Amino acid sequence: MKPTPLLDVLGVGFGPANIALAIALEELAPELSVRFIERRDGPHWQPGMLLPGSDIQNHPLRDLVTPRNPRSRYSFTNFLFENKRLYEHLNLPLHYPLRLEYAQYVKWVAQFFAGQVDYHSEASAIEAVEAGVDAPVAHYRVRTADGRLYRARSLVFAPGRTPHVPTPFAAIRDPRVQHLNHYLPSLAKTLEDGGERRVAVIGGSQSAVEILLHASEQAGVAKLVGYTRNFGYRQKDTSPFSDEVYFPGFVDAFHGASEENKARLRRELVYTNYSASDIDVLNQLYVRRYEEGLRQQQRIELRTCQEILDCRPEEAGIELHSRHFLTGEVSCERYDLVILATGFLDLGNGERQEPWPPLLAPLAARLGDLPLSIARDYRVELGSAAPVYFNGLCESSHGMGDAGSFSLLALRSQHIVDSLVQQVTHKLECPRYA
Ligand SMILES: Cc1cc2nc3c(=O)[nH]c(=O)nc-3n(C[C@H](O)[C@H](O)[C@H](O)COP(=O)(O)OP(=O)(O)OC[C@H]3O[C@@H](n4cnc5c(N)ncnc54)[C@H](O)[C@@H]3O)c2cc1C
Repeated sequence: MKPTPLLDVLGVGFGPANIALAIALEELAPELSVRFIERRDGPHWQPGMLLPGSDIQNHPLRDLVTPRNPRSRYSFTNFLFENKRLYEHLNLPLHYPLRLEYAQYVKWVAQFFAGQVDYHSEASAIEAVEAGVDAPVAHYRVRTADGRLYRARSLVFAPGRTPHVPTPFAAIRDPRVQHLNHYLPSLAKTLEDGGERRVAVIGGSQSAVEILLHASEQAGVAKLVGYTRNFGYRQKDTSPFSDEVYFPGFVDAFHGASEENKARLRRELVYTNYSASDIDVLNQLYVRRYEEGLRQQQRIELRTCQEILDCRPEEAGIELHSRHFLTGEVSCERYDLVILATGFLDLGNGERQEPWPPLLAPLAARLGDLPLSIARDYRVELGSAAPVYFNGLCESSHGMGDAGSFSLLALRSQHIVDSLVQQVTHKLECPRYA
């Protein structure tokens, strides 16, 4: 039987992080053999949240390649140029581009790499293969949900972050409770039979505010309730001084900092990206709720200072029990759809963290009692084992700009490719077929 080709690099996930990596590999290390597996049917950027009118939250030049190689053909500017939209785009009265256009840019770049990607391929198990008894890991075997098998001398793991599901919702398996990743399809399903529906949105993030705005425009949504623990929907910290968290120098400083100082910086800088929104959408929500009151057609209700106590799926609706933490007042309401705009997990052992990405948990056993540690080049510290890189998961080790943002994708892929060249080409000398 023909042996499975042993790849130099297998990328798991083909979202923006590994698309940026594909560009960097083509431009910097074309000699490496590479494939990507992606569970979706094609290249889509956050399709469940592609809301009409929403914009991106990064400068468009912080795209998949420009900060690393401004002359690359894969830049956002060249995308506009080749699609004959440059002048019209530059004339738009917008601060940042529409998310729809950026999603098209991501798709446009991805199509150049179609020959390297297997879509409809979900990695379902990852196994380390040793060269012999007690020998270090020589390569990895990755199985997909439909039974395919890949082998590679290095892995670049970029599946996006795991959704954060707060405790009251953790055990619920009901299609009427959904994370924001699935907002648009679940809303469409809820509204499909034309009745009047009640929707709850949990969380105080940018996504929560965007969802409240979008849902309030849907004819079938008769009642829309936002729940947040905060006193109010908070504005993001958009100070240009704070935004230096998206500088490469910040990543160096953060990565080298003590755990105590990392925690201190994260506390100080959290509102640059989390539990807060841009002022444009906050203002729209405030005015829209006010205007509904003027018309005596109040559909939007914002319940602040709320702790969710319990969530109970009943036939008549999802029952949410909550408590106002100042007054102690407890309430119970039923909804047809509950959206968790509650963000994502980071790596670590604290609150809102997971120790390992679930798929790679078997590798954790190799570390014994040692905590997960990720080097500056995004390589997981696994001793002399074949290298595994985390691409887009390293906020707790590399700082606020690392996960959850386009800002450092291009430079991150350079770090990973430089390291891959060292690790795969120079250090290991296994045959390509084994
Ligand atoms: C609603 C929303 C809006 C955002 N807007 C912005 C913005 O405007 N600007 C910004 O800088 N950042 C934004 N972000 C942050 C966002 O995380 C990044 O922009 C970017 O999507 C990160 O890319 P990624 O490749 O790391 O992750 P993802 O985009 O999540 O891509 C991961 C890919 O891996 C695939 N995958 C997962 N598991 C498997 C598996 N087991 N096997 C195979 N494939 C798998 C997924 O299908 C997916 O395609 C936004 C995030 C959200 C949720």
